[in-house]
Amino acid sequence: MSRYGVFHPPLKVNVANTIVPQMSLVRASPLAKLVVVSLFMIPVISSIPVVQLASGDRLSLQVYQFRGSVGGKKAYLQSNLHGAEISGNAVIYELIEYLMSLDSSQLIGEIWLLPVCNPVGVSQRSHHFSPGRYNLYDGEDWNRIFWDFEKQGEDILAFAKSHLELDANTIKVNYRKEIALSFAKQLTIINAPSSRPYSEIYRYHLQSLCLDADLVLDLHSSTNHALDYIYCFSSREESAKAFLFDRGILMDEYDGDAFDEAFLKPWLALERVFAELGRNIVFDVESWTLELGSGMQINPESVTSGLRGIKNYLATQGLLKIDGFPLPETVQHQIILTPKNSVKKYYAPGGGMIRSRVELGSFVKQGELLYQILIFNKSGEFPSIVDVGAESDVFVFDLSTNQSVNQGEYVLSVMANS
Ligand SMILES: [Zn+2]
Repeated sequence: MSRYGVFHPPLKVNVANTIVPQMSLVRASPLAKLVVVSLFMIPVISSIPVVQLASGDRLSLQVYQFRGSVGGKKAYLQSNLHGAEISGNAVIYELIEYLMSLDSSQLIGEIWLLPVCNPVGVSQRSHHFSPGRYNLYDGEDWNRIFWDFEKQGEDILAFAKSHLELDANTIKVNYRKEIALSFAKQLTIINAPSSRPYSEIYRYHLQSLCLDADLVLDLHSSTNHALDYIYCFSSREESAKAFLFDRGILMDEYDGDAFDEAFLKPWLALERVFAELGRNIVFDVESWTLELGSGMQINPESVTSGLRGIKNYLATQGLLKIDGFPLPETVQHQIILTPKNSVKKYYAPGGGMIRSRVELGSFVKQGELLYQILIFNKSGEFPSIVDVGAESDVFVFDLSTNQSVNQGEYVLSVMANS
């Protein structure tokens, strides 16, 4: 139960009566106009159908749009892109409730919130388990499907040359138009008689909601058991502090077509091209993936730290004017950022049962024990125990949920601790 008692029902639900994707279904409702006089903010709530099932039923997205009385940046937050990673939904619920307690003058700009952003992934089950990382139909990772402007063959160098003398804001506006024009071609392709696979229809809807955002936050968790941390792009390290996490992974290499990458990489590419032309410019756009604890459960501590970090980040970015924020510790906060290529996954060298594994958050020196595998055999011999040691000095941040492993199955992840 919320501290405001029963949660408010949606004020408005726009349900389009077509499966044809639309750039934006958010419109101010007559009710929304009425509440302008209200002291507290009420979001516009819009529902967007994304897929019609064979049964005729439809699965939808629902976005909560808060708009401040003064214009400014747009922040877009979504959660649960991977089906088992549910903590972010609780964070968004808390954010909805919190924002509804604010006066609209306390929000500069707008905040769009999209919980349970993958209605297919969150619904997948295998016995008691929620896998939801891969699309069961085509095997694709739900977070490796996104449309990336940088890969569309557009001439970013020519754009930069033609904008070399212009101010950063004009460049930002014009580049965003270029991205939107290129993205709009996706709709034509989807609406052709041959249509496109579901992943392309789905990604179109999600990216339609955020391509014009300034700040994008994608709330994940581990699918297994993990600590809270953040993925940070190079050149955005200073902003990462505001989330107040102890650890992060610095993206010195890309997975490709992940949600955070698809949003920010085109901007990083433009910054890089400008630098080559002799102009150093950092656009006021950022993208983050937050990892909030473990999968298939809502860790209260992860929700608390995620909510606190997001409020602090939004205040630091100037969107929220709220008492006590940005928190005074922000300036002094130190986050340990480990380059992505210094993160290592350990896989089982043989099949068996994991035991004596170190705890999450352990520091393990080179050669010391990370875990053991109890290995049985069918060769008439006694079972054996195999020790697995650390290849270097490491910090353990993620552990597999299942302690029964086939050879080659995932066991744990470490960050280099040099
Ligand atoms: Zn994830």
